[in-house]
Amino acid sequence: MMMNSLIVFIFSLMIGSFINVIIYRLPLGKSLIWPGSFCPACSQAIKARDLVPVISYIVLNGECRHCRARISLRYPLVELLTGTAFLLVYLNSGSTICMAAGLFLTGLLIASAFIDIDHGIIPDKLTGIGIIVGLLLSPFTVTPLSAAAGSLLFGGILFSAGVLSGGGMGGGDIKLGLAIGVFCGLPNAVLAFIISSLAGGVWGGFLLMTRSAGRKSTMKFGPFLALGSYLAYVYGSQIINCYFRILGLQ
Ligand SMILES: [Zn+2]
Repeated sequence: MMMNSLIVFIFSLMIGSFINVIIYRLPLGKSLIWPGSFCPACSQAIKARDLVPVISYIVLNGECRHCRARISLRYPLVELLTGTAFLLVYLNSGSTICMAAGLFLTGLLIASAFIDIDHGIIPDKLTGIGIIVGLLLSPFTVTPLSAAAGSLLFGGILFSAGVLSGGGMGGGDIKLGLAIGVFCGLPNAVLAFIISSLAGGVWGGFLLMTRSAGRKSTMKFGPFLALGSYLAYVYGSQIINCYFRILGLQ
């Protein structure tokens, strides 16, 4: 068990490295495969020994081997986040196919959240592939009917929220909602929306209190959608059971 978890974690760190490539290159319309990694400051190709997730960052002291330009701390952090998030999916999945769906959704959420933070968009390529993969897997996970219902409901709620707030919710958020709903199905898609809104509300309140944002500033909702949906997907049934127990209904 320990050994399996360690292997999954190391493998997930490498996926995290690839997610970094997606976050950086996809919004710029660059190929994800060619050319290999290079330093954005000096354009030197980065050798394999300097591409080991997390370890290389520590060994290089967070600097490019050639020009000593700083490498963003975010690269190893995204790798560690992916490693941890994937490991929890692995440890909490009932079946292999549910695990595969969960890992795919998690990767999609991490990439979407960071691209939204950087550029304020969520690329159609990501959400489109997500919807297709989710629908293809749905007969083995939440059932196609539940996937379709979850998707339309989540997308519909976000669309309504966008109309009511006068454009506070972007098209990318709505399409991400459609993709998340396909993976979560019902009732977890509803739970995903509730957790996302609570997390977004708490963060918004924090920004207002610390005066880092005014009442009129817009907030990127992608990272909260990602967090809420991840928790709903991995821990949905535990959260719902716990809630009913608190209410004394179980
Ligand atoms: Zn360099």
